Amino acid sequence: MEECVFCKIANKKIPAKVVYEDEEILAFDDINPQAPVHVLVIPKEHFASLNDMPGGKQKLLGRILIQAREIARQKGIGERGYRIVLNTEKDSGQDVFHIHFHILGGRRMSWPPG
Ligand code: 5GP
Ligand code: ZN
Repeated sequence: MEECVFCKIANKKIPAKVVYEDEEILAFDDINPQAPVHVLVIPKEHFASLNDMPGGKQKLLGRILIQAREIARQKGIGERGYRIVLNTEKDSGQDVFHIHFHILGGRRMSWPPG
């Protein structure tokens, strides 16, 4: 099966600015940042979206969120605040169908989102 773009990044077939890596998780700068800090956090294993993650992966999902919090701290936006976004399927604007959490921060965010 053809690998998706984030599988290629996870497998080091295309480059990315990696900010965190362990056996299960990879975090890297977004190629088209929407805020001064814009990091994507993914499981290395391919799941197209949140809808495709089995219930048994709840520990992995939790680890990703805790790691995202740590990355926000390390990037210096932990205290002032940041937004974590998990776009899921078409209406959300999901473009890359390998589940990823966005960490956005370093500027004031508006609400409601577009
Ligand atoms: P989505 O709209 O699916 O939630 O977000 C996909 C994100 O992936 C976008 O913010 C886009 O800029 C980012 N992206 C797409 N292709 C690449 C790539 O090849 N490298 C990196 N670092 N980010 C990418
Ligand atoms: Zn993938």
